[in-house]
Amino acid sequence: MTARVLDGQALAARIQREEITPQVAEFTSRHGRPPGLAIVLVGHNPASEVYVRNKLKSGGGVGFRADLERLPADATLGDVLGLVERLNRSRVHDGILVQSPLPKALGPGAAQRVFDAIAPEKDVDGFTPVNVGRMVQNRPALVACTPTGIIELLVREQIPIAGRHAVVVGRSDIVGKPMALLLLHRDATVTICHSKTPDLAAVCRHADILIAAVGRAGLVTRTFVKPGATVVDVGMNTVTEASVAEQLFPEGHPRLARFRERGSVLVGDVHPEVAEVAGALTPVPGGVGPLTIAMLMMNTLRAARARAGSGT
Ligand code: NDP
Repeated sequence: MTARVLDGQALAARIQREEITPQVAEFTSRHGRPPGLAIVLVGHNPASEVYVRNKLKSGGGVGFRADLERLPADATLGDVLGLVERLNRSRVHDGILVQSPLPKALGPGAAQRVFDAIAPEKDVDGFTPVNVGRMVQNRPALVACTPTGIIELLVREQIPIAGRHAVVVGRSDIVGKPMALLLLHRDATVTICHSKTPDLAAVCRHADILIAAVGRAGLVTRTFVKPGATVVDVGMNTVTEASVAEQLFPEGHPRLARFRERGSVLVGDVHPEVAEVAGALTPVPGGVGPLTIAMLMMNTLRAARARAGSGT
C-alpha cells in the first residue's frame, strides 16, 4: 500500500484564496480598514526570521495589514511587555503574535509572562489562559493554529474522527495538548503519549489517527503504524548529519541527493517508510506547516470581526 498524500500546501492555498481573501475584502470595504496583524520578533533567530517572513507574506497576500514589530536581542522583558501593551491598545491591530522562542536572556518564565500579557481578543495564537480555558470547555475561542489546521485537514479530507482512536505523541501547550482536546471534542477516543510513555510503538499501533508532534527526525517508523491508519506529521526537524539523512532516505532518493548538495534537509517526525503502511499521510514540508499559517490568517480575521462587532 502507498499512503494517500494529504496535501496541506494545496489546501492552505485554497482556503486562503477562496475563503479568507474574499472575506478580508468584504471586511475591509465594510469597516474602511483591513484586518491588522502585528508580529513581534525579538532578536535574530534564523528559523524565526523565515517563519515570520512567511507569515507576513501570507498576511499581505490575503489583504491584511501585516506589521513586523522588531526588538533587538538585548531588549528587556519590560521592553517586550511594553510593546505588547502598546499593541493591545492599537486600533489597527486585531491580532498579536509573539514569535517563539524568545531570547533566553529575557529570563526564566519570560515567555509565559509575555503570552499572558496579550489581550485575549487579539491572541491569534490561542496561547493565553483565557483562550486555552475556553477551548478546554469547548466554548468559542481563538485556538492554537497548528491543531486547528490539522482538524481542518482531517475534516476536509473526509477522514472520520468520531469514534476513532486517536493517538497524539507530544504534550506541548502549543501542539500536543490542544490537539488532543480538539480530537476529543470531535468524539475521538484519545491517548496522549510523551517521553515517559513505555512501549510507544505498541500504543501508537492502536491509532486510527496518529499525530506525531515530537521534534525527533524519523521517530515514527512503520512498526508504530496500524495498516491503513491516518498519520499526521507535525515535526519540523532540520537534519544536518549524513548518517541520519542516510537512515531516512535510501541511496538514490532525490531528497538524499539534495541533502548532499545543501548539507541539510527538512524532515518530519515520521520516517518516510511509513508511506508503505499508512492509509493517508501528511508530507513534510507541505503538510501541516502551510495550514498553520492559513489558520493564523483565519484567527486574525475572526479576531477582527469580533472586535468590529460583526461576529466571529
Ligand atoms: P516540544 O518540544 O514543546 O514538545 C515535544 C513533545 O514530544 C513533549 O511532550 C515530549 O515529551 C515529547 N517527546 C520528546 N521525545 C519523545 C520521545 N522519544 N517519545 C515520545 N515523546 C517524546 O515541541 P512542540 O510541541 O513545540 O513541537 C513538536 C514538533 O512540531 C517540533 O518539531 C516543532 O518544530 C514542530 N512544530 C511544527 C509546527 C508546524 O506548523 N508544522 C508548529 C509547531 C511545532 P515530554 O513532555 O515528556 O518532554
